[in-house]
Amino acid sequence: MSASHDIPAVLPPPTMENLGGGFHAFVQLDGSWGLNNAGVHVGERGVTLIDTAFTEHRGRGLRDAIGTVTAKTVQTIVNTHHHGDHTYGNFLFPHATVIGHTLCREAVIAGGLETKEWFPGVDWGDIDLVPPTVTFEQSLRVYCDDTPATLQYQGPAHSSNDISMWVPERGLLFAGDLVFNGGTPFVVMGSIQGLIEALTELQGLDATTVVPGHGAVCEPDVIAEQLSYLRFVQDLARDGHAAGDDPLELARRTDLGHFGAWTDPERLVGNLHRAYSELRGEPRGVALDYQFVVDEMVSFNGGQPLRCLA
Ligand SMILES: [Zn+2]
Repeated sequence: MSASHDIPAVLPPPTMENLGGGFHAFVQLDGSWGLNNAGVHVGERGVTLIDTAFTEHRGRGLRDAIGTVTAKTVQTIVNTHHHGDHTYGNFLFPHATVIGHTLCREAVIAGGLETKEWFPGVDWGDIDLVPPTVTFEQSLRVYCDDTPATLQYQGPAHSSNDISMWVPERGLLFAGDLVFNGGTPFVVMGSIQGLIEALTELQGLDATTVVPGHGAVCEPDVIAEQLSYLRFVQDLARDGHAAGDDPLELARRTDLGHFGAWTDPERLVGNLHRAYSELRGEPRGVALDYQFVVDEMVSFNGGQPLRCLA
């Protein structure tokens, strides 16, 4: 059995962390389901925002936090991928141009607000879906004032459409959900091998500061831990697939060891489904039955709904 994660009685409020050079990280701990981070650059004429938030309430909290460091308008939003915790809050910044991968735009439009169904009991507010209107395929340079940043497609990895934002002058990497600090990686909508390759590329950047998609701002050594989990899952899947084991049953009898202390350990079930898909030789990122996977993660948790504190 996996270790169960203790539910914190009270979560700390979101914070704005000054990273220098006009860059900030908006951090929502404990980084579990739906509690994502955003990046902020305060420029001379306006603000660049990397990702937004899941619920209307969380999105307004992000807007308020930006208001504590500048009165300037958010002019540009970069969506690191299509998941709702990174995109649902786009509408709260109506003057911004939203940039994302072409597949991110498609996935935001196709997915609508469907992930709301995965997380019963969340107070969503009134969300107006706003997909990216500037899209690209491989890479795009954006400037935060005169500081260049590279948006690089890294998918399929965590999702079909992940991009990272690398600011070489600052040694600063906004990794989106390619990196969870203290949280279980989640690849059911992407590719386990793809995420291994993406993380290996990110290690080569020589970043000094990593803003993960979830969890505290960190140093790049966190990436090695994420890689070791993904290889653990690949090894587990290889043996389980060869033995004809069902992913849920395999997950239930797996000892996650120290990985079990990370948030949302039930993601193992989804990750095994993705690993099995790759072992069957299916294309990276091919659609799986996500509702089935969510139902199995709930079963893994003894019937408890996915814990979302957004
Ligand atoms: Zn995500």
